[in-house]
Amino acid sequence: MYVLVVNAGSSSLKYQVFNMENEEVIAKGVVEKIGVMKTDESGAKVPADGITTYKRLSDGTENRQEMVIANHSVATELMLGNLLSAEHGIIKSLDEIYAVGHRVVNGGKWLTKPTLVNDSVIADLRKCLDIAPVHTKAHLMGLEGCIEHMPKTPQVLVIDTAFHSTMPKKAYTYPIKKETRERLSIRRYGFHGSSHRYVSAKAIEYLGKGAEGTKVITCHLGNGSSIGAVKDGKIVDTSMGFTPLEGVIMGSRCGSIDPAIVPFVMENEGIAAKDMGDWMNKECGFLGMCGSSDLRDVERMIGEGNEEAKLALDILGYQVKKYVGSYAAAMNGVDAVVFTAGIGENNPTIRQLAMEGMEFFGIKIDPEKNKNARSLAEPIDISADDSKVRIYVIFTNEELVIARDTKEVVDNL
Ligand code: ADP
Repeated sequence: MYVLVVNAGSSSLKYQVFNMENEEVIAKGVVEKIGVMKTDESGAKVPADGITTYKRLSDGTENRQEMVIANHSVATELMLGNLLSAEHGIIKSLDEIYAVGHRVVNGGKWLTKPTLVNDSVIADLRKCLDIAPVHTKAHLMGLEGCIEHMPKTPQVLVIDTAFHSTMPKKAYTYPIKKETRERLSIRRYGFHGSSHRYVSAKAIEYLGKGAEGTKVITCHLGNGSSIGAVKDGKIVDTSMGFTPLEGVIMGSRCGSIDPAIVPFVMENEGIAAKDMGDWMNKECGFLGMCGSSDLRDVERMIGEGNEEAKLALDILGYQVKKYVGSYAAAMNGVDAVVFTAGIGENNPTIRQLAMEGMEFFGIKIDPEKNKNARSLAEPIDISADDSKVRIYVIFTNEELVIARDTKEVVDNL
């Protein structure tokens, strides 16, 4: 039984097909530069070439095409064309796809659990345009493309914010006027929910004493980063907020800063309100400080003696440490700290910076185990033998969570 997982961004469509008998990925691909324009020699705006890349995992057969990809409907056709291809495909008919699971970044207060798509669910997704316009617009385009080309296949929305819906009021409420926050649906939503859920469940499995009573802090550190406090298997707090901007320093996001800096910069740098979101999301963080959003570049610059790069890395380590400390306080203890996503899985320096000097909390990292932790399917314990708290590196799998949720919704119809 095959489940197609779709992650539609504003100019990209990523997908994976899972065989749910063994939960293995059998094909995956990405359609990039959808609807992107470029300026030609005469100065006119013309469509730029998009790129599709695809891989069948059973034998490694790949396919790559470059062509103008006008919109998400065309992108969906290209995705399905690859899956159905006689040369490199994996299915002969679309009937072989049991269901499609769509990643939704923010379901707001309207969508809080995996949901089968129908007209009223689409209307609910449209309401999310108010709070998350860029992501929601992309999800709607991806969903419409799939409905158009696969009208008989069940479509399911799997919501990133869903795992965070268990936060207590005091964790998700911002201290602003009730009328304003209710009218504008302002609250902490939290993001990377499928990842926090996947890795916290793995950690609980490894701790081996069941979800009840366990306290896990999950550090999803990638291009975007968020930390989660998971008590009894449920989220009680997380660092991202109303949008993914809040929390620690990220690839190109500033994370939490004194809100008063925002009008101050706007006034003194002459930045308009409509551009300030882009400034904070796309021009700050590692990129703003060192000129690259990729931590591998930041580390290379550190090697070349760049002090600003060293400072950026130190800030991330320090901020993660502060979140771990505050979440240990919020939960009255911690059994395991988990590192995941691009940086969390691959960068020993950040794990070391975040975990050293935490003996007071019973957290003691083993520097050798930390340095040697490499990509493995199973959690790697990098804590010292006498550490009261386990420190795990766990590889996240958000797509598998989406595939499982999608199957469950359709199984229960
Ligand atoms: P996204 O949030 O876009 O999914 P990722 O989780 O892939 O991003 O994280 C991207 C970050 O992870 C980059 O800063 C990059 O430096 C780091 N990263 C990814 N892969 C590796 C690797 N193999 N070794 C070291 N760092 C890595």
